[in-house]
Amino acid sequence: MNRFDAIIIGAGPAGLTTALVLAQAGKEVVVLERGEYPGSKNMFGGVLYSKGLHELIPHFWDKAPVERPVARWVISALDKEASFSLDYKNARYTEAPYNAFTVLRSKFDSWYARQAEAAGATLLTETIVEDFIYDQQRVVGVKTGREDGELYADVVVAADGVNSLAARKGVIKKDLSPDDVSLGVKEILAMPAESINRAFSLTGNEGAAYTFVGAATQGIPGGGFIYTNKDKLSIGIVVKLSSLSKTGRRPEDLLEDFKQHPMIWPLIKEGEIREYLAHLIPEGGQTSSKSLYKGGLLATGDAGGFTLSTGFRVEGANLAIMSGMAAAETIKRSSRSRDFSEKGLSIYPDLLRQYGVLADMEKFRHAPNFLKNPRLYQSYPELVCQISNALFSVEPGPKKGIGEMVKEARKGKQLSRFEIIKDIYAGWRGLA
Ligand SMILES: Cc1cc2nc3c(=O)[nH]c(=O)nc-3n(C[C@H](O)[C@H](O)[C@H](O)COP(=O)(O)OP(=O)(O)OC[C@H]3O[C@@H](n4cnc5c(N)ncnc54)[C@H](O)[C@@H]3O)c2cc1C
Repeated sequence: MNRFDAIIIGAGPAGLTTALVLAQAGKEVVVLERGEYPGSKNMFGGVLYSKGLHELIPHFWDKAPVERPVARWVISALDKEASFSLDYKNARYTEAPYNAFTVLRSKFDSWYARQAEAAGATLLTETIVEDFIYDQQRVVGVKTGREDGELYADVVVAADGVNSLAARKGVIKKDLSPDDVSLGVKEILAMPAESINRAFSLTGNEGAAYTFVGAATQGIPGGGFIYTNKDKLSIGIVVKLSSLSKTGRRPEDLLEDFKQHPMIWPLIKEGEIREYLAHLIPEGGQTSSKSLYKGGLLATGDAGGFTLSTGFRVEGANLAIMSGMAAAETIKRSSRSRDFSEKGLSIYPDLLRQYGVLADMEKFRHAPNFLKNPRLYQSYPELVCQISNALFSVEPGPKKGIGEMVKEARKGKQLSRFEIIKDIYAGWRGLA
């Protein structure tokens, strides 16, 4: 049989959510995944926010392979030898309903795929979708790399991530340029749970999410992260691809320098490298709802550009889940009228808004532009570290007032008062 109600390209959080919801509604669904198993090709930082998945699978944390509930959030500005941090810990985050968990995608995606299969979805792994099949302008199926690999459906869901076939083939929106994406590189380090707890001041199964700007990426727009799993650490950096290519630096060298930073090494020194992973992240700021669907096709998750980076955290997996729910709901409604044309699917943006995905993307549409500002990654982290140094050092001679300290720290950083005010305004516009 090669005809389905829906074909879903990609077994990541977006595709598996769409498959699960449709299968629960009794639809014939097939998920096509190029990897050997779901999650084998996937990586993220990895914090999974519970909202969304908890609505779909109540108390998923009792069954899913989550690592630790995140109780401690630390944001640090780094210069070459110092750090200035905001440290927030909340005991409530370690109780149901949890806010967020650290997760390892290879385990989590496999588990999530099993939930979709148990609901009745068919999963075909090691299957690469190479092209779409059209009837006039409408997508009516896909061509896969398998022998006799043509499959047909009422609707195809592009849930194939950042470098989506739908964009590469120009079906929904333009192909990506290096300016639209960041590159993430990450290592998974094995470390005993007690050593993790000691290094990150945690007790029991509490988790921590650390993010860093400044020297973490040596001034390149982006940041560094460390997330604590049960007995592993996820450590990595994310850098804007266009800025990285101008420096000629290799991402793996930047990650190594980050690990060797005097503020980072003591945290991870007991870790042993188990895996190295790299992946792209779309920049987000998607606002054109027209580029999310065409006749017979919907784009979800990263394929739709649904990531939100607000500088101190990346959200993507939860948006992928919510957009997968919106895509499934769109398909269920279109099934009633048997209309899978562009007009029939045009309720999708409204549903995305109701599920909070487009509403968030629209609200933070100026964030990507604000986060391009190079001063955020060099001048400001150095400034706060230098002011902190002046505050905490006792030098011979008369003491300086805070105004003098700030003035001195601003020297040589091209940080005029006008620029600071302009940046505060841009930050307010982008993130408030
Ligand atoms: C370094 C980094 C850190 C991140 N940190 C976080 C974080 O902490 N929290 C968070 O919420 N988000 C984070 N994100 C973002 C998050 O990973 C993504 O937004 C999320 O994975 C998107 O899910 P998706 O299902 O749309 O796509 P993906 O997870 O990319 O899944 C797409 C699937 O499609 C498959 N596929 C692709 N092409 C084809 C094809 N032609 N045929 C068949 N199969 C195909 C792939 O193998 C993959 O399984 C991070 C991303 C990166 C790179």
